[in-house]
Amino acid sequence: MAIWNLGSVNADLVYRVKHMPKPGETLSAHGHQRGLGGKGANMSVACHRAASHVEHIGAVGDDGLWMKARLAEYGVGVAHLAEVAGPTGQAIILLDDAAENEIIILAGSNHAVTEAMIEAALAGATAGDIAVFQNETNAQVAFARAAKAAGLRLAYAAAPFEAEAVAAVLEHLDILVMNAVEAEQLESALGRAPQDLPVADVVITLGGDGCRWIHTASGAVRDFAAPKVVPVDTTGAGDTFTGYLLAGLDQGLAMEEALALAQKAGALMVTRLGTADVIPMRDEL
Ligand code: ATP
Repeated sequence: MAIWNLGSVNADLVYRVKHMPKPGETLSAHGHQRGLGGKGANMSVACHRAASHVEHIGAVGDDGLWMKARLAEYGVGVAHLAEVAGPTGQAIILLDDAAENEIIILAGSNHAVTEAMIEAALAGATAGDIAVFQNETNAQVAFARAAKAAGLRLAYAAAPFEAEAVAAVLEHLDILVMNAVEAEQLESALGRAPQDLPVADVVITLGGDGCRWIHTASGAVRDFAAPKVVPVDTTGAGDTFTGYLLAGLDQGLAMEEALALAQKAGALMVTRLGTADVIPMRDEL
């Protein structure tokens, strides 16, 4: 089987700071890194490192060819990652000594996805494949409709959270993954608790406290504890978790087994500094 990921590709520009700057404050960074990131790229790398075949659908600008090359080098399918004019997406990441982060995103080429690109990509999909998207590209509704029309199992990571974006795709989803903050935002924006959503499986990640799985048809809510680790950098933990979860499901694991795999990968990821480049390999878990 395969995973079809409509996803962002961002240059992650990481600045290490003692603490987050207050309004008007100028801080010196005590470290800097440039890496491959973006929720979409992170998830694609995670799916591949979890041993699934993944095709990335999206766009890079003329300054982003190194990121397309790196995704290909990492084993991600890039035949549907278009090259367009203008800047590639960027994320300015501040990471403080308490391992908290603050992030500013420039969408750039991540908003240059067309319906024709989606149709061309999904023409190669097989019913039963998994499709996934996040909220850092455009064309989400077109992707959701096309994926369902092709008989794919559709997953959405509702991040960065926008109520209108979730509402626009909710009816198409099979799997919804959110962190605790996004789950609260969703509940207050839509006035619906996670168990009342029209989505078969809702997964809420809880950082060091693990995750919650809500099987809406039965109303079952199950909590799973995370492995104990000392976190260094939580950036990309959620993307790693989701990529591994979907790869597990793609490979026929039951939800509980796929969640356990995802939690091992997420826990190992928070012990590492960086994003897509340092996502754990399956044999490291
Ligand atoms: P981010 O936006 O930083 O990528 P997130 O907020 O989307 O992350 P989290 O809920 O922080 O997602 O983490 C996702 C998963 O990663 C958790 O469900 C857990 O399995 C794992 N994880 C995160 N933080 C820790 C931690 N401190 N210890 C162990 N596992 C963790």
